Amino acid sequence: MTNSFPYAQNQSFPDRYISPEKLFSYLQDNFSDYIKEVGKSSLGKPIYMLTLGNGNLKVAAWSQMHGNESTATLAMLDLLSIFEKHPELSEKLLGLIQLDFIFMLNPDGSEAWTRRNAYDIDINRDFIRNSSNEVRVLKSIVLNGGYSYLLNLHDQRTIFTTDGVHPATLSFLSPSENLERDLTENRKKSMAVIAAIYMQMKQILPNRIAKYTDEFYPTSTGDNFMKAGIPSILFEGGFYENDLDRKKTREYYTHALYFALKAISVLKGDTLSYETYFDIPQNRETHFDLIYRNVKLNTEFECIMDIAVQYREILDENKNLTYQPYVIEVGDLNHKKGWTEIDCTDKKFVSVKKFPKLDSFVDFSVE
Ligand SMILES: [Zn+2]
Repeated sequence: MTNSFPYAQNQSFPDRYISPEKLFSYLQDNFSDYIKEVGKSSLGKPIYMLTLGNGNLKVAAWSQMHGNESTATLAMLDLLSIFEKHPELSEKLLGLIQLDFIFMLNPDGSEAWTRRNAYDIDINRDFIRNSSNEVRVLKSIVLNGGYSYLLNLHDQRTIFTTDGVHPATLSFLSPSENLERDLTENRKKSMAVIAAIYMQMKQILPNRIAKYTDEFYPTSTGDNFMKAGIPSILFEGGFYENDLDRKKTREYYTHALYFALKAISVLKGDTLSYETYFDIPQNRETHFDLIYRNVKLNTEFECIMDIAVQYREILDENKNLTYQPYVIEVGDLNHKKGWTEIDCTDKKFVSVKKFPKLDSFVDFSVE
């Protein structure tokens, strides 16, 4: 099945890692009439908001609240360059909505490729405590902006699948407003948008769209903005087969952003077909990046185990993102799967260590 959305990557940003400086100078060079500085990070870096459109329906979105989650930033950059090449896609849309997009809410964490801000605060758990500059910037914009919808844009780990087989490349959530997870009018409004995205995307991304757990997080952003009366939609970009760099994810994320804006411009607060949300499969935690199966250690007694590995994303000295394998679990992992699995039956475990220690770098081989 083909689709008519003319996806192309923004050529200025080929990599998953984005230096804040490069992003800011790109925005200044190309969108100076549309951006303004809305605050500063903990270390004094500027935080920029870009405003597109002049419609009555106001939408706020923010990316990289968690610094090591850049897919949404890249998707927005892709969408901007697609709109430039295909003005017919955005003309009508941007007459109906106004999109305020906060790029890289956590530029310090983005620079260092860490989830948290420069003071190790998780901005997405700081809504009540207000310890971070960044959450204060976000709240003052969102709570005073008269917004009809919010898009809270994140990435999730590679461990999630939709069905135990296919990765959850995109997951969405209409967050709960209370511990009881009541199905409120606001939740229905954001469910209706997610349902519309899902109906548009399940043909182009079959079996790889899920919904995130709706457990209520009392200090989280989305949950509290919902509680404050603004329909919020959580996006999570996840894994796609053989795509640690998330290039495919980025492409689908761009589609999802576009379809979200389209759906908002059509729904205008309506809850039409929100029930479809319940058809979306729930995220399942089933996978590791890599499993070595049936590894026989060099012990006097018989010791055969599975070894699970996750890649840690580490910036090297040239600010290139590298994927470093670490032992994350050992033992009987028959109830889990690996995106890659290596059967080590009748092979030799080669290591200076007696056994693969938990949380250690993978410095063994199996030959
Ligand atoms: Zn996140």
